[in-house]
Amino acid sequence: MNATVTYAIFAAVLGAVAGSFLNVVVYRLPRGESLLKPGSHCTSCATPIKPYDNVPVLGWIWLRGHCRACRAAISPRYPLVEAVTAALCVAVVLQHSSLAAALLGITLVLALVPVTLIDLERHIIPNRITAPAAIAAIVLGSALDWSGEPERLIAGAAAGGFLLLAALCYPRGMGMGDVKLAAVLGLLLGRDVAAAMLVALIAGVIVGLVVLARTPSADRRSVGIPFGPFLALGGLVALFVGHPIVGEYLHHLHR
Ligand SMILES: [Zn+2]
Repeated sequence: MNATVTYAIFAAVLGAVAGSFLNVVVYRLPRGESLLKPGSHCTSCATPIKPYDNVPVLGWIWLRGHCRACRAAISPRYPLVEAVTAALCVAVVLQHSSLAAALLGITLVLALVPVTLIDLERHIIPNRITAPAAIAAIVLGSALDWSGEPERLIAGAAAGGFLLLAALCYPRGMGMGDVKLAAVLGLLLGRDVAAAMLVALIAGVIVGLVVLARTPSADRRSVGIPFGPFLALGGLVALFVGHPIVGEYLHHLHR
């Protein structure tokens, strides 16, 4: 088996396990519950989930989406989050050849998945996700790619500063959580964060206009569209195709 396949399988397994933990984060963190205790349990009957049923993606499949104890339905969202996290981790490993780029990319994926779900559900982006992501970005970036760290710090400050201005001008549409998430994107993506911001703003404006157009005018004041998912979309686009935009793609073609 060649090295690439080995890395991909490794990334798939770790990504699925990480996705399983992210499901816990998405459910418990906004509720102020501990992420570690108690262990996974059915949200209907509170029966602890058996270790052999707690396998990412596969556990849900062989339980056919039902709790073994009370038969309550388990949302397909859980295996879906695990599968998507695994797929994104595999894509990062396959696309990024350097260890620094791969680990910064995986950090981005592991931050964006829970941020997207929590912001969609609750319209908040918790500091308990953005702060560890920022620390991981700076520690991993400095340790593995010291020469690229100034660019990432500048990109983080620029992206955060840009959204801070937007939040000051348009406080109903943008919050401090969005500002901090943009800074984290810069710390992880470097100059490619420009592509992320562009995609996020374009997608956010288009979806915002469509939602407003479909909302009766009396209700428009109460419409709140979280911006975090658009930043996440932009971050993923920049992660996978941002570099080609700034020329790395041509470099690879000519190698
Ligand atoms: Zn149950």
